Amino acid sequence: MTMDTQPWRDRLARPAEYIEYLKERDREVGACLEIREPEPGAHAVGRAVGDSLRSGGTARGPLAGLPFAVKNNIAVRGWRLTCGSKMLSEIVAPYTATAVGRLVDAGAVVVATTNLDEFGMGSSTDNSALGRTNNPRDLSRVAGGSSGGSAAAVAAGEVPFALGSDTGGSVRQPAAFCGVYGLKPTYGAVSRYGLTAYASSLETIGVLASSPDLAEAVFETMSAPDPRDQTSVRRPAGAGDESGDKRLDPADAPSPVRRVAALRVSEGLSSEVSCVYRDSIRAMRDAGLEVDEIDIPSLEYAVPSYYTIAAAEASANLARFNGIRYGIRPFHSDSPQDLIMDARSDGLGAEVKLRIMLGTFVLRSGFQEQYYGKAQRIRTRIARDVDSVFASYDALLSPVFPTPAFARGDASMDAFAQRLADKFTVTANLAGIPALSFPAGVKGGLPVGLQLHATAFAQRRLFALHRSLADRFPALPCDGPLVEGGER
Ligand code: GLN
Repeated sequence: MTMDTQPWRDRLARPAEYIEYLKERDREVGACLEIREPEPGAHAVGRAVGDSLRSGGTARGPLAGLPFAVKNNIAVRGWRLTCGSKMLSEIVAPYTATAVGRLVDAGAVVVATTNLDEFGMGSSTDNSALGRTNNPRDLSRVAGGSSGGSAAAVAAGEVPFALGSDTGGSVRQPAAFCGVYGLKPTYGAVSRYGLTAYASSLETIGVLASSPDLAEAVFETMSAPDPRDQTSVRRPAGAGDESGDKRLDPADAPSPVRRVAALRVSEGLSSEVSCVYRDSIRAMRDAGLEVDEIDIPSLEYAVPSYYTIAAAEASANLARFNGIRYGIRPFHSDSPQDLIMDARSDGLGAEVKLRIMLGTFVLRSGFQEQYYGKAQRIRTRIARDVDSVFASYDALLSPVFPTPAFARGDASMDAFAQRLADKFTVTANLAGIPALSFPAGVKGGLPVGLQLHATAFAQRRLFALHRSLADRFPALPCDGPLVEGGER
């Protein structure tokens, strides 16, 4: 594994200087909500953070001594856990998410929390109530979302990696917009304990990183079953997991990839994405892979199915943010009902309110079959159709988003258009499979990302496939100018 992370260890060896640099750099990007100099023991989970700082301390391995940032819907004890919402702007996390804890145990150090669309709902990070995040590749453009802060922090060279969450594309789309790597793991491969729930059956904690090797190392460190998350799973039977050796998993064995399906997309892509998509298919064929363009007709219904299920789950998950159990409380109210109404009217943003109402509507008594039931049946169908692709192919290639990063205020990208544009990312969430978003080219000065999907638990195969194609795709510098075309 090649991973030049020494500059980051050197930086973190002088925390005060590094934190000053981070604050300065973030002034124009706006990726972070809180930046803090690591204090020994301040948010340590198993091991004192000070240990990680002293030349790798007792922790050894690829992550020892690396700084990282955490999307602010993932709990880090002692840090505010705002979820990008005014409602939770004062809440401090009383515990640390398992995924973060495992990274800290491996010697990595939290230095910042990052901005996001409120509760993860959006595709630009402009739905945050707490600040604006700009795309470091072009500050007039959005960084994508909802993990836009994490993607921007990595692309700006502020941190080598950051955590995000992916419910319908929120790791992969900002990764593509900012020109970094974004992994959405298999559902259940990483504990969700400590992730503030938006749509529980769809989401996973994921990683954004400056290199694919680092993304893989972070994933391997985070991934494990957790008794605190009943949906976290051991790898499938026969995987030899008793020994704890993930390498024995047959689905995950890095057997050479020969056949790749590429989703046929006949319309709706911008010229930039369409051009990079075509070039990439050609590059993969040139590399000796058999690439067939295929249709998956059920994907036409992926967006409506996703938004019905996501809104339904959000309406239940967000019910506790009511000013009583959690959240800002009005100074005076005449009744408990008024208190809840005032707290939610004032504390929640428009997109969140819309989804809560939509979710309540589709779940209302007597109508579940008409919307929610139907959406679930479409989901099952999509999962089956995608599964059958993997009976014949080792991986599935598709665009991440129809356009590169759009300009803030672009009228053609209103909230509705953004939701429709999730059509390429929601498939992996509906089917529960892993997907890796990677920079595939540069057009008009902006990065263009594509994604590779694989069958459940085959994250390792995605990285191996990307590694075998590494000389065909650009390695974009973080915090440096991009070369047009993206050739190496
Ligand atoms: N754009 C999607 C949404 O708004 C992405 C959400 C996510 O993955 N958190 O629902």
